Amino acid sequence: MSKKIPHRLYLTEDQMPKQWYNLRADMKEQPAPLLNPGTHEPAKVEELYPVFCEKLAQQEMDGTTRYIDIPEEVQDFYKMYRPSPLIRAYNLEKALGTPAKIYYKFEGNNTSGSHKLNSAVAQAYYAKEQGLAGLTTETGAGQWGTALSEACSYYNLPLTVYMVKVSYEQKPFRQSVMRTFDADIIPSPSNTTEVGRMILSKDPATGGSLGCAISEAVEKAVTTPNTRYVLGSVLNQVLLHQSIIGLESKLAMEMLDEYPDIVIGCAGGGSNLGGLIAPFMQDKLSGKANPRIIAVEPASCPSFTRGKYAYDFCDTGKVTPLAKMYTLGSSFMPSANHAGGLRYHGMSPILSKLYHDRYMEAIAVEQTKVFEAAVFFAKQETILPAPESAHAIRGAIDEALRCKETGEAKTILFGLTGTGYFDMTAYNAYLNGTMSDYIPTDADLQKGFDEMPVVKEA
Ligand SMILES: *Cc1c(COP(=O)(O)O)cnc(C)c1O
Repeated sequence: MSKKIPHRLYLTEDQMPKQWYNLRADMKEQPAPLLNPGTHEPAKVEELYPVFCEKLAQQEMDGTTRYIDIPEEVQDFYKMYRPSPLIRAYNLEKALGTPAKIYYKFEGNNTSGSHKLNSAVAQAYYAKEQGLAGLTTETGAGQWGTALSEACSYYNLPLTVYMVKVSYEQKPFRQSVMRTFDADIIPSPSNTTEVGRMILSKDPATGGSLGCAISEAVEKAVTTPNTRYVLGSVLNQVLLHQSIIGLESKLAMEMLDEYPDIVIGCAGGGSNLGGLIAPFMQDKLSGKANPRIIAVEPASCPSFTRGKYAYDFCDTGKVTPLAKMYTLGSSFMPSANHAGGLRYHGMSPILSKLYHDRYMEAIAVEQTKVFEAAVFFAKQETILPAPESAHAIRGAIDEALRCKETGEAKTILFGLTGTGYFDMTAYNAYLNGTMSDYIPTDADLQKGFDEMPVVKEA
């Protein structure tokens, strides 16, 4: 093993990309457009303005501009925690006894503990630029709420966070971090919105879901003057902002004379994966290279591997535009899996299209296997991974073990999206042997499919 390659490669500030990369510009076929939920006609950009900030609505609809300048103010914010390191997992490779070379891009070096800050700061910046009075959002596990609280506090923008009630109760310290950054946090479902009251009247004991918190945050935004809603995943604009992960990774690998044979990421709504793979997918689409690209999702919420590719609502209350994506149905209530950030019924329309057209693969893994990988990784590499990120670790370890069998020295790159310090209840469950694997039956999934909207496609 040549030690010419350092353990950690940090790009310099000057090498940090100054533009985001819009993968849609290189896709042979575009992802299907958002539809107006009333008319089922493609939504026009103006129709998004009451909900989203204008610049972000424009980015959402822009399928042609290949590179989009990162505003200087956003670059300055990025420089507080970026470029993020690309790490060669020498110790993990040795422990596995694999000939594979394993690299990971670590996005956990900021207080939110995840990649979500990359989009949060961009979204808060555009909201401030438009002169908005405030923002609303939802958070499940709490990473997005934390990231956006940091960004809003930096730009002095009031923020209301609808936090899924089970998380709100299980993760009081997540609340404390958000409150440190002045966010107003409401457990969802709540009686502060019509949709929240309706959901509560049907099921007063519900612990809530991401889909339901989205409905509340959207309603709050459109009923509060000069206030807009922001979302931390799934949307095209979020994948755009997250492209910085992939651009930095590719540049760092080029400097090492490396190129990945396999790129692996965990998939909740698809934003980190979409960002990580963007420039590699560009090579794949143009025929310049042909890396395998693998999404890893939880077996308890298997949107790619067992979902339907169809138009669906992005929220439980059915107030959002319809997106064509791999979905389990917006009424699907995932079981209490510990990787809160992956418990979403749908998947990015961009990734859904690429998966449908077979440019990428997907696998679903059980959570005990995920935590086994998390603990193994932590011991070798000394980073305590987020349960979400550990899905990608599981995928990378399994590929590296396959290389051990075949003797192939493949180069593997995976996204380590964040740290797991707020997930110690989950780690305890694993370490105490009380963690179980819940996999929905076909009948469970059918219930979600039955409630999906019927959309005639042109
Ligand atoms: C939110 C989150 C994810 C999943 O979200 P994507 O949009 O699919 O990237 C993964 N890892 C961490 C640490 C997260 O916070």
